[in-house]
Amino acid sequence: MTEDTSRLVLTWATIAAMAAAAALHWGAPGLGAGWAEALALLSVFFTGGLPAAHRAIGALITERQLDIDLLMVVAALAAAAVGAALEGAVLLTLFSLSTTLEHRAMGRTRRAIEALMELRPDRALIRRGEDTVEVAVETLVPGDVVILRPGARVPVDGVIVLGEGAIDESTITGESVPVHKTPGAQVFEATVNLHGVLEIEVRRELGASTVARMIALVTEAQAARAPSERFSEWFGQRYTIAVLAGAVLAFAVFSVLGLGWQAALYKAATLLVAASPCAIVISVPAAILSALSVAARGGVLFKGGAALETLARVETFAFDKTGTLTTGRQEIVDIRCEGAEAEFLARLAGIEAHSEHPIAEAIRRLADARGILPLPVREAKAVPGEGMVAVDDLGVIWAGNARLAQRMGARAETGLVLPADLETAPRTLVLLGRGAKILGGVTCEDRPRDSTPGGLAALRAAGVGQIAMLTGDRRAVAERIGAELGIGAAEIHADLRPEDKVRIVADLTARGRVAFVGDGVNDAAALARADVGIAMGAAGSEVALQAADVALLADDIGRLAEAHRLARRTTRIIRQNLIFAMGAMLVLVAGGLFWHLPLPVAVIGHEGGTVLVVLNGLRLLADPIRKRRG
Ligand code: ADP
Ligand code: MG
Repeated sequence: MTEDTSRLVLTWATIAAMAAAAALHWGAPGLGAGWAEALALLSVFFTGGLPAAHRAIGALITERQLDIDLLMVVAALAAAAVGAALEGAVLLTLFSLSTTLEHRAMGRTRRAIEALMELRPDRALIRRGEDTVEVAVETLVPGDVVILRPGARVPVDGVIVLGEGAIDESTITGESVPVHKTPGAQVFEATVNLHGVLEIEVRRELGASTVARMIALVTEAQAARAPSERFSEWFGQRYTIAVLAGAVLAFAVFSVLGLGWQAALYKAATLLVAASPCAIVISVPAAILSALSVAARGGVLFKGGAALETLARVETFAFDKTGTLTTGRQEIVDIRCEGAEAEFLARLAGIEAHSEHPIAEAIRRLADARGILPLPVREAKAVPGEGMVAVDDLGVIWAGNARLAQRMGARAETGLVLPADLETAPRTLVLLGRGAKILGGVTCEDRPRDSTPGGLAALRAAGVGQIAMLTGDRRAVAERIGAELGIGAAEIHADLRPEDKVRIVADLTARGRVAFVGDGVNDAAALARADVGIAMGAAGSEVALQAADVALLADDIGRLAEAHRLARRTTRIIRQNLIFAMGAMLVLVAGGLFWHLPLPVAVIGHEGGTVLVVLNGLRLLADPIRKRRG
């Protein structure tokens, strides 16, 4: 029997015994059924009290912690000792019921994520030479080619090698609009192939798939404690000791005041229950676990409660430009070179064949479209934030921005081949050079994502004061994009190398908490330096998943605004919970001290408050991260 079911069975047994005891007590007084009532009460103490006592003693011995369970057991025993066994039984019954309810409620936050795991099919069709065979998914290894029929779920992370079609990726990104994918595109485990017949080459081991990583991250995140959670636990522990001491003191004082030891012990038991910090301790995890789960279902992975709490307090959002604010899909606008354009492009595409940068991809695409074969190069090396350097048949060749040109000693000659309009156009400029000589240049541009204006507007509407742009691109380009998005020149930092981005993020933190939002290309260090590093489009990128505190699996700034809203709402709910829990406790304790508060009323107030706090946290589960229209 699992822990959950045994908990459930014991709770039902406790309730049944309690009902029997109550029926015998009130329903059949005078029938001489006193022994039957005593028997029923005894079984309530066993089924309701023993598990709590067991947990309390376990915590005391293994963790040297005073558990809240202990307070309840002591209070129930004290009540029984002064002849109020029925009241003690009510306490144990309600405590058992609320503990079970809490467990089931908190379990919902976990199951919300684990359900993803069950989506993976068990068997897959793979190509073996001429044949297709069906195999167990566990046996797939990178390199296998899986055949996917329409409507089938993708069993592994891989790349399409044949066929094209729409894929529903909502399980991963939370995005319900299908994505059209062609050969070369990545597909992810647990997504659905809607109508194409696809052949997919397996690229990752099962355990390394995006879904597996997501589940692992969310599970780790749920275990990682948020600062306020740590506080409420620390507080709970000190407080539990204080409550026990206070109850003993109350017993002593009321006895001395002439209340009689029995009445004093009853009062002490009531105070013990009234002052128990159950609600305070559960109020934070109830909200945080719900928020982490609901965020994950919307394609936003928080790496822990701390990231959630920090995001809620961010004052400055600093965005990388290329691939984050913009689509990253560059279009070549202009080509200028000495001599034949075809040779120029062949050399440029040859060196860019070794780069992962979006610019490189645009150049390769253009060469491909014109049927130009890239000229091979050797020893290609990336200069982050600047470009590429390599060696070809004629010597050292490079492609990159003006800073790289300068590094290669080519500054003075820039004007020689490049007309001034190319130099000053508000477009990204890529120069191709050999040593100190510039062979030509291309300009390219990309567009803000459709989701960017709406996402930024939502952040501003939420009261985020500062929105900054950090880019390795030229100032003119950055300002053009900034103007479209309402980011002022003062908030634009251009011509940055990756290390400059780190420095600027550090500078910005002087003014308040900073979130850096990047795509993980060239900006892992800035992601790590910020108070919260947020990676976009993380579904395919291991670097981004690693370096960030928050990963947005869809390329959508609107999700960021939603995550921010959720984080703020979570901290609001935590605050509500803490205030309510402390208020309720104060009222009950005051009632116990200055008035004759009956034990059952204290019990109902206390357990009711705890359940309310949990339910208040669980409201977040019904608050999905939605897609925003820009
Ligand atoms: P961003 O901050 O806009 O994301 P990066 O730091 O990735 O940009 O790159 C900064 C600049 O360096 C680019 O705008 C481009 O001019 C140049 N650059 C980087 N990589 C390459 C490349 N592979 N080919 C040509 N230029 C490059
Ligand atoms: Mg970038």
